[in-house]
Amino acid sequence: MTRYAAIIFIIGLALLPAMSCKKDAPEAPAAVAAAAANADNPFFKPYGTPFNVPPFDLIKTEHFLPALEEGIRREQAEVDAIVNNPKAPTFENTIAALDHTGIFLSEANGVFGALQSANTNKDLQALARQTAPMLAAHRDNIGLNEKLFQRIKAVYDKRATLKLDREELFLLENTYRDFVRGGALLGENEKARMRELNQELSLQTVKFGENVLAETNAFKLVIDNKADLTGLPASVVDMAAETAKQSGLEGKWVFSIQVPSMTPFLMYSGKRDLREKIQRAYFMKGDNDNEFDNKEIAKKIADLRRRRAEILGYANHAAFVLENNMAKTPERVDAFLKQLWEPTVVKAREEATALQSLIDRQGGKFKLASWDWWLYTEKLRQEKYALDDSALRPYFKLDNVREGIFALCEKLYGLKFVEKPDLPRYHPEVQVFEVLEADGRHLGILYMDFHPRPSKRSGAWSGGFRRAYYEKGQRVPPVANIVCNFTRPTADAPSLISTDEVSTYFHEFGHALSTLFSQGRYRSRTVARDSVELPSQIMEHWAFEPELLALYAKHYQTGETIPVALVEKLEKSSLFNQGFITAEYLAASILDMAWHTLPNPAEVDARQFETKLMGEIGLIPEIVPRYRSTYFSHIFSGGYAAGYYAYIWSEVLDCDAYEAFKEKGIFDKATAESFRKNVLEPFGTEDPMTQYVRFRGAEPKIDGLLRNRGLEVKK
Ligand SMILES: [Zn+2]
Repeated sequence: MTRYAAIIFIIGLALLPAMSCKKDAPEAPAAVAAAAANADNPFFKPYGTPFNVPPFDLIKTEHFLPALEEGIRREQAEVDAIVNNPKAPTFENTIAALDHTGIFLSEANGVFGALQSANTNKDLQALARQTAPMLAAHRDNIGLNEKLFQRIKAVYDKRATLKLDREELFLLENTYRDFVRGGALLGENEKARMRELNQELSLQTVKFGENVLAETNAFKLVIDNKADLTGLPASVVDMAAETAKQSGLEGKWVFSIQVPSMTPFLMYSGKRDLREKIQRAYFMKGDNDNEFDNKEIAKKIADLRRRRAEILGYANHAAFVLENNMAKTPERVDAFLKQLWEPTVVKAREEATALQSLIDRQGGKFKLASWDWWLYTEKLRQEKYALDDSALRPYFKLDNVREGIFALCEKLYGLKFVEKPDLPRYHPEVQVFEVLEADGRHLGILYMDFHPRPSKRSGAWSGGFRRAYYEKGQRVPPVANIVCNFTRPTADAPSLISTDEVSTYFHEFGHALSTLFSQGRYRSRTVARDSVELPSQIMEHWAFEPELLALYAKHYQTGETIPVALVEKLEKSSLFNQGFITAEYLAASILDMAWHTLPNPAEVDARQFETKLMGEIGLIPEIVPRYRSTYFSHIFSGGYAAGYYAYIWSEVLDCDAYEAFKEKGIFDKATAESFRKNVLEPFGTEDPMTQYVRFRGAEPKIDGLLRNRGLEVKK
C-alpha cells in the first residue's frame, strides 16, 4: 500500500557502513596520534552521551572528513592484521574477526549518511562527492584483497567439518558469497576494471540524488489571486499560506511538489491549468534538459551496472541482484509482475471510464488527464462512499497516530516508549524515544523526524545510527530512526495526516521494530531485498482495524473517537482506486526491471525508452508511473535496483502472515511472540523462507495479496 518507503541500512557486504558502536576501536600508535590531532572531534573520543547516541550538538561538518579518513585507515589496519595473522585461518580469526572490523568508520559514516538524506546542505553535498569515490575505493581494497579472500575461502572450503551453528554458517556463506560477487575470483585486469566501474558508479549515484533534490526545491506554485484557490479546503489553504510565509512570500499561497503539498492540491483544486502545471513539474523532475537533468546519468548508471555484471559473468544487473533474492531470476520477477499487471490494467481502465463519465455528467468538456485523476477520484469517493479526505484528517492527528502505534506495540510485544527530550538531535523537530521491554529492560533508542524540509530528500525511510550486535556476550543496543515527509502543522491546527501517511508511518515503524528487536550476534546482516518489506508492510494491516482505531483515532479538537459509520465507510472503500494505485506501482517496477535487463543502456534515449515501454505494457496515458526514470531515486541512488518489485513480492508474505493474526485475534500475544522470535529477531541472520515457515507452518500463498488488492480473477 505504501509507495514511499525505503530503508537505508545497506544490506549485505559486511564491509559496508553497518551502524555500530565505536568503543572498541584499537589503540594502535597511529590511532593515538590521530586522536590527539583531533581532540575536538567528537568521533575521536567516547561520546559520553546517554545510551551512547551520537552527540549531534557537537558534530560539525568539518568533523566528518577526518573521521572518515581515520575510519578507513583503521579498518584497513584491522583487515591487514587478519591477513597477516600467522595462524591458520579459522572461523574466529577470519570470519568473525572481519565482521568486527570498521566499527569506527561505520559510526561516522552512519551519521554522515543519515544527515545526507535527512538534513543536508551544500557543504555536506560537496563532501559526499569527495568521499563517495574514496569509500568505494576502500571497499574495493578490502573486497578485492586476494590474501584476505584466500583465508575466507580456506574456512569456507572446510565449512562442513567446522561444526558451526546456524548463525555462524550463515555469516560464513554470505561473507564468501559477498567476496565472490564483489569480484574476488576475477583476474587482475578485471579487478582493476571493477574498481573503475565502482568509482564511477559512486559518483553518478550521488549526483543523481542531488539533482532530484535540486529539482524538487526549484519549483514553487505561487498563487496571489484568491480566485485561484477555488475548491481547496481551508486547511489546505492555511498550509499554503504557511509555506508562503516560510518562503518570504507572506500574504500569498505557495504549493510545492513535495507530496504533502502537491497531493491535496491535485485532490481539490478547481483550476485545471494549475493542476496540470504542478503535476507536470512533479513528473518532469530531472527531465528538463537543464543542469539537473538525470536522463544521461540514469543511462550511465544502468550501463555501469550492466558492465560490472558482465565482468562477473551475469547476463545483466538484474540477474546479478536477483540471485540473492527470494525471486532468484529476472524471469520469475517478470512473470510475477505480469500475473498482477493483467487484472490491474483492466481495473485501471474501468476506473478511468468511471472518472470520465463523472466529468461528462458534471459538464466538463475535456478528456480525463493525469492531473484530473486525483480530483475526480476524490469526487467519486465522496459520491460513492460519502468519504472525504479532509473529513478524515481531524481524526488522524500525528501525535495520536504515534500513540496508536505505541499502543499496538504494547499490546503485541509489551513495549513501552519514553520520550527523551534532552537527548541530542540533528534537528529541533526530531523526536527521540527510549524503547523498553515489558519488564523495563532497555531495548533501544528511536529517532523520528516527520516533516518535509528543503534539506531532506522526499519519501519515507527507516534505518539507524547503530545496529544491534553482541560485544563480548553483551548486547550493544540499537539506535533506530524513521524519517518521513508528512503534512506539517499550520498556525491553526496540529499536523493532521492523510490515511496514506498513516499507512506510511505504520510501515516505517515496522522497519524500526525489526532494527530494535534484532538479535544478531554479529554485525553483518544479509536480508533478501524482496523479503525486507515483510516487517514493515505487516504493520500496515493494523492501521485501520476498527479495534485499534477506537484506541487512537480521536478528533483533534473534540477528542471524540472516530464514528463507527466513518470506520465502516473506510472499510468499504478500501479497494477504491486500487487499479490506479497498483498500476502506477507496477509500472515503476516494470520500468526498473527493464533498465536493469537492457543489453545497451548507453545507446537508448531515456525518455523514448520509457514511453515506448509504457506503451508496450498498455499503461493508460492517464496514469504516470509511480516514479519516472529521472527521479527514481530508489533504483538510481538507493538500494532498490532490480528490486522495486520487492514491495509487492513481500506483500505475498505480509498478507499471508497477517492471516495468522486474524485467525487468532489481531492482538494475540502468542502469535506476536512467535513473529518476534522467528522473524523479527533473527531477521537477516538466516534464510527468510526458513524463518517464515517456522512462524507460519507453511510457505505463503498469494491469495491474501490478491484479495487485499481486489485482483482476484472473477469466476
Ligand atoms: Zn519499506
